[in-house]
Amino acid sequence: MSGHSALAAGARLETVSGFDRIGEENAFAVLARAGELAAGGMDVINLGIGQPDFPTPPNIVEAAVKALRDGHHGYTPATGLPVLREAVAADLHRRFSVEISPDRVLVVPGGKVTMFAAILMLGAPGVDILYPDPGFPIYRSMIEFTGANPVPVPIREANGFAFSAEETLSLITPQTRLLILNSPANPCGGVTPRGEIEHLVKGLGAHPQVAILSDEIYDQMLYDGEEHVSLLAFPEIRDRLILLNGWSKTYAMTGWRIGYSVWPDGLYDKARKLAVNAWSCVNAPTQHAALEALTGPQDAVAEMVAEFDARRRLVVDGLNALPGVSCISPKGAFYAFPNVSGTGRQAKALASALLEETGVATIGGPDFGILGEGYIRLSYANSRENIARALDRMRDYLMLR
Ligand code: PLP
Repeated sequence: MSGHSALAAGARLETVSGFDRIGEENAFAVLARAGELAAGGMDVINLGIGQPDFPTPPNIVEAAVKALRDGHHGYTPATGLPVLREAVAADLHRRFSVEISPDRVLVVPGGKVTMFAAILMLGAPGVDILYPDPGFPIYRSMIEFTGANPVPVPIREANGFAFSAEETLSLITPQTRLLILNSPANPCGGVTPRGEIEHLVKGLGAHPQVAILSDEIYDQMLYDGEEHVSLLAFPEIRDRLILLNGWSKTYAMTGWRIGYSVWPDGLYDKARKLAVNAWSCVNAPTQHAALEALTGPQDAVAEMVAEFDARRRLVVDGLNALPGVSCISPKGAFYAFPNVSGTGRQAKALASALLEETGVATIGGPDFGILGEGYIRLSYANSRENIARALDRMRDYLMLR
């Protein structure tokens, strides 16, 4: 039988081994299940997926519509429109007083793409990559995909869900090639304070072989007067720092698929070539929208953050009033990560029961790493009214068990 007819008869298609190890993000599975339940008539309140519930501000939408009407229908440079890369550099200068050349900025289709590219570039069998646990699940998935050894850096409630510089440094070995940092963080909402970051950067001086991927996608979502300390602000690590950022969260643009990275000298051209091989460029109207987002009025960002802050208080107070649940106040992003160990339930089973039995979608902590057991994640990117209704349902459910 020829290979062709064997396949036609249903032979199993083999992939290279990395694809047996690739993972995913359970938030999308919960989103799909919530959609099914809603389609079946259930009143579902979605506190699962991490995306702002606000529409993209109208001036940004209009910029994209205008770009289409003006005929911006073709490819752009693979690295992004020069004017957009300049606007990113100017924005970073405005916010962090750092001089970044637009030639180091790469516009990519979403924040995720930077972690994909960076981990693909630096991960290989025999290499250690440090990543936060609990953390964004794609870090570990991509590390495993490359065959590198995933080394979790514990993110502890007792430490306000911030990175511990000391613990992170203690996990570095001669095999460590990449350290992934995320502050403000998903899923815990932790913000790593300046002192801790300074300590970490100082300690990294002893480990020049370690590149750093700093995921700062939530950098404008801060509460209680917290400041964002960008890793870009440390010139001593600039030659090995990859910055991940984008528009998805700050400007409520998750579906547009656009983000940016800042790369060190030695890696920029490799990232550019990856872009040429894989996606060519981000679609032109979205780049025009992103330009308007950075250069237009910023009031909508402040309004969204103020609303997230009000919801944060509501959700934390509500969670702390539930039997068996305690929740520290997250300082950033738009997630609460309550400790549910006092309910006596496994976190994933609890999250699943809350969705199936009460219509409240949350994500079990173990979907963010083994240290997520005992926690669930609630995204408060939903209206105050819905958050209050969700908390009522959770209380009724927990009181009855
Ligand atoms: N990094 C973190 C920590 C995130 O939580 C997310 C999205 O949830 C991303 C990156 C990806 O963002 P994007 O939707 O722009 O790909």
